[in-house]
Formats: sequence, C-alpha cells, structure tokens
Amino acid sequence: MYRTWLQCIRGCGERYALEEVIYICPRCGGLLDVEHDVEALRDQSAAGWIRLFDSRMRTNDWPYGSGVWGKKEWVLPSVDNENVVSMYEGHTNLFWAERLGQELGVEDLWVKLCGNTHTGSFKDLGMTVLISQVRQMRASGVPIRAVACASTGDTSAALAAYGAAARIPTIVFLPRGKVSTAQLVQPIANGALVLALDTDFDGCMEIVRQVTADKSIYLANSMNSLRMEGQKTVGIEIVQQFDWQAPDWIVIPVGNLGNVSALGKGLLLMKELGLIDKLPRILCAQAARANPLYLSYQSHFRQYQPVVAQKTAASAIQIGNPVSYERAVRVLTRLEGVVEQATEQELADASARADRTGLYTCPHTGVALAALFKYIERGEIKPDDRVVVISTAHGLKFTDFKVNYHDSILKDVISRHANPPLELPADVAIVQDAVDRALQGRGINP
Ligand SMILES: *Cc1c(COP(=O)(O)O)cnc(C)c1O
Ligand SMILES: [Zn+2]
Repeated sequence: MYRTWLQCIRGCGERYALEEVIYICPRCGGLLDVEHDVEALRDQSAAGWIRLFDSRMRTNDWPYGSGVWGKKEWVLPSVDNENVVSMYEGHTNLFWAERLGQELGVEDLWVKLCGNTHTGSFKDLGMTVLISQVRQMRASGVPIRAVACASTGDTSAALAAYGAAARIPTIVFLPRGKVSTAQLVQPIANGALVLALDTDFDGCMEIVRQVTADKSIYLANSMNSLRMEGQKTVGIEIVQQFDWQAPDWIVIPVGNLGNVSALGKGLLLMKELGLIDKLPRILCAQAARANPLYLSYQSHFRQYQPVVAQKTAASAIQIGNPVSYERAVRVLTRLEGVVEQATEQELADASARADRTGLYTCPHTGVALAALFKYIERGEIKPDDRVVVISTAHGLKFTDFKVNYHDSILKDVISRHANPPLELPADVAIVQDAVDRALQGRGINP
C-alpha cells in the first residue's frame, strides 16, 4: 500500500491526514498538497510503471480503464475501488493539428482535447478524485452534508455531475450573468443547488470559503488539493500518447492556476521516477483582462499583485486573485515556465483561425493559441519543436461566443474570419448563382 498525506506547501511542511476536512495549514496559512511516498513508489521500475499503465488503457477492469484511475497508485491509492466515482474520464484525443501547424511553420503541433469528456472540460479529471474521496469519507462516518464550489462554470458542471452520480448533494456559487448558458444549465440539470450571486468569481470564492467554514459542507475548489491529483494525469497521459516521450512545449490557458500546478506536478513525478529524463517547457496563457500571473512574470515572479479581472470571452479564466499562485510559481520555476497574454481580439481570431482548420475551440483554447502564435513569431518556439496545446473545454459549451463572432457582434472584436450563413430565397437559380460566386470568392473556379 502506497501512503499519501496532506502537506503544507510552505516551509513549515506540517503534515495532516487525508481524511481531515482541512484546506489551509492551520499553522501558517499555506495551501496543502497531497504528497506521495515516492520512495515506496520506486518499488516498481520506470519500465514496470509504463507496462502497468499501458496494460490498463481502456480496460473494463473497474476503475482502471479511466485515464485517471489507470494511474491510481500515483493519484489516490487509499480510495477503495467501490468508492470510486468515475465516468471513465481521461484518454482524450491528441489532435494532430496538421493544417494549422503547416500554416504556422511548426508541423509537430498537437491539441490535447480535454473538453471531449463527460461534462465538456478538464475539470472532470479532478472531480472524479475529489468526489471519490468524499464518498469514502462519508462511508467511514465523516459527517459531510454537501459539497460546494465557487465556479466560473466548468467546475460546477463537473461537481454537479459527479455528485449526482454518487448521490452526494452539491451546491454551486456562480457569478450571475458571467457564465455561458450551457455552463449555467449543466448544474441545474444535474440537480445541484445553484446560487447565482451578484458578484464576480473572486466574490463567489470569498463567500464559499466562509460557508465551508462549517465542516459539514465540503469545499471543492482547487484550494482543495485532491482535484490536482486527478488533473496531474493530463501531462502523464500526453507523454504516454507519445510513447513515453515528453514534448518540447506544453501551452496551457490559466486562471486560478490549479491546472498548471497539477500539470507540473505530474511531469515532475514522472521525472523523479525515471519515466522521462527531459521536462517540457510550459507556456502559460492568460487573458489580458485577467492577467495577474503575466504581470508577476514581468518581475520574474518577485512581485505579485492581485488584479480586478475585467470581462473577457475567456470566462473560465476571468480570475484576478488566483488561489494557486504559490503552487504555480514553484512549478514554473522548475519547468522553465513562461507567461504570455492575449487580448480579446487575439483570442477570438486565434480561436476562429483554428476552427477553420477543423478544430472547434473554446475561447480559453483561443487564448492558448494566441500565445502560441506569438511565441512562434518571436522564434522562441522553433519549427521542429513538438508542441502540445491543452484545449481545456469543448467549443460547444461556448455557442454564444461562436455565434456572436460569426455575426460580427462580439464586443471589442473585429471578426476577421467571420463566416455568416447566406440567407437566400428557395430558388434554384439564385442558389446556383450564389454558390458559384462564393466558390470563386474562395479561389475555386469551375
Ligand atoms: C478551469 C478552467 C481553466 C483554468 O484552469 P485553472 O486551474 O483555473 O488555472 C481554463 N479553461 C477552462 C475551460 C476551465 O474550465
Ligand atoms: Zn504550514
């Protein structure tokens, strides 16, 4: 049995049991991380772990067919399999962006489609772990009445779905009018108690922190490190999909900074256990309207100032005071991380341009792509680098963004790649004429 515990990420290093309902170190106020007994994990060789993980890919042996639980020993070995709440998350497609890569002059370009999953975003990877642990704690008598989160949309969708499947009541706090219709309706449909508050994400976060001071209401935000254990499998899975070779770059859109911390954590564990010898570099992408990490990066992370996040189409990263700032800086320091930002115009164009090559990108993926374009343009990402862009959510969650772009009514954006429908009478001659003219306009002659 491999041991795990909670440990303060600051110098104090105090340890706590995984079963404690605790998110912040009572001694120093630091965040807590799940730590693993890495020495014990060395009982398997790197080749042994690779064999084990490969043998579980898509098996029906519960719960190991899940991309998260296939790495259970590295994630949360102490959960009983019967308490695991899984929707077989993970194993998302690594899309070879052949056409987009050709246009950019970087042909080894890939997009990890983390939105092709049960609730449409990577948040499923973390929520399966958190809800499984809650189920185990409830089964062992810990009095948890409900699980709650503040959310910019995707966390609440995942929480509501996993909670519903496990018969665990859920409460979600959303900033009113600041999440997409699809994101709002997901927790409603799954039976969560949905509270829409007249504030932004950071305001919701403040309220949920106070509500969950009552320990019978369990906090599911990424301050809770259990989710990171599931999310860290994304980097491991990317390496696995390249036959256990690390790419040169991973580009990731960031807001609260939990996901990039998790990505780094997984990669560093692989390195420690000898599954890879080289670490990829990380390019973090922020919306220019919610860019505290970008600003801090300008001072090589020596200064940090929360900002008031302004409205951005990349609503899931509209966060001014990221909870996992300290975690992220540690990871970025070890992985030679860099940070870039994207304006509304840049993210919308990048998203639309990628869609023209067969993708269907959410605005956050647009932010990541816009950052990628800048790094290629500056020659920092080289033509033969292998690059993976993490697409964090499915484009179908952001229909308003897409429709408004193609109707050329997206705020503060000129829609250079708009492709609105031609509205015509049902008349063959008019239609044929319109088709001919449109094809000629695209340089396709009869
Ligand atoms: C949550 C989320 C992010 C940001 O992840 P953080 O852990 O908050 O940095 C990015 N994109 C989408 C679609 C998300 O749902
Ligand atoms: Zn501490």
